[in-house]
Amino acid sequence: MSRREQFLDAMGLMPEWLPRQHGAVLEVPEALQVPESTAGVVERAAIGAEANVAAARDTRTASVTAPGTGHPGSFDEGMPLQQPARRPHGGDHAQSNARALEIATLDWEPLARHVADCQACQLCERRTNTVFGVGDQQAEWMFIGEGPGEQEDLQGEPFVGQSGKLLDNMLRALGMSRQRNVYIANIVKCRPPRNRDPEPEEAALCEPYLQRQIALLRPRLIVVLGKVAAHRLLRTDAPVSRLRGQVHDYEGIPVVVTYHPSYLLRSPNEKAKAWDDLCFARALHERSGPSAGRA
Ligand code: SF4
Repeated sequence: MSRREQFLDAMGLMPEWLPRQHGAVLEVPEALQVPESTAGVVERAAIGAEANVAAARDTRTASVTAPGTGHPGSFDEGMPLQQPARRPHGGDHAQSNARALEIATLDWEPLARHVADCQACQLCERRTNTVFGVGDQQAEWMFIGEGPGEQEDLQGEPFVGQSGKLLDNMLRALGMSRQRNVYIANIVKCRPPRNRDPEPEEAALCEPYLQRQIALLRPRLIVVLGKVAAHRLLRTDAPVSRLRGQVHDYEGIPVVVTYHPSYLLRSPNEKAKAWDDLCFARALHERSGPSAGRA
């Protein structure tokens, strides 16, 4: 059994993954040419928590594109980082800034309590539980989704239910689990009614929590799951199909975008692309240097 087949078998999805069109998936590292500017920021790791969150409303993102191929592993050396337009946040700015400043000082436990007590947006009204996040607080990998669904709301944990099982399989295929070297969080911590997308105002009000989680975790790599999370984190409205296969940047942390597991459950033919993205992310992680031994 080839190495790729072993990974697919470990995911329990081997019959459902489509064959790749371009060679072996696990050969991606050889093809990778990450620009030095991005490799450098991988080394930096830390994102300057307090200072950055104090400037939460000035969050900057950029992306390094791999034009033409639409396939992970090919980049133009020295391509300048693109600076997407910033989106204004709604609400009372002074109040929002004061709240963000307070959240930016919190450690894990008080941060979780702050979320549990939060009534900053209308999503608090119908929640059963807040869904703070789960995983290894020393993790080098962070996965970010959109928001809790029904099961997540009931259990208070992100990515449970069918999409959670798929994500667990994806992690297992990479030799990881939500208990080891992975932290999982969402853009919003309360379930939007009928699983609708979070409103921009809701996402903006919840963003200081995610920013603080990222600042505390200081992951070496962020994998964004799905359109909503990608749009919010990267300040773009491009479709996931265009965001894949690129190294984006969030406060100096490399970001890879892939499809949301719930989308993959509805569109199983896309699983091969998601597997490509995960291999791309792993190659990027390996390219960034030896593990800091946080696992
Ligand atoms: S979604 Fe976020 S901002 Fe809104 S009530 Fe829940 S924790 Fe607070």
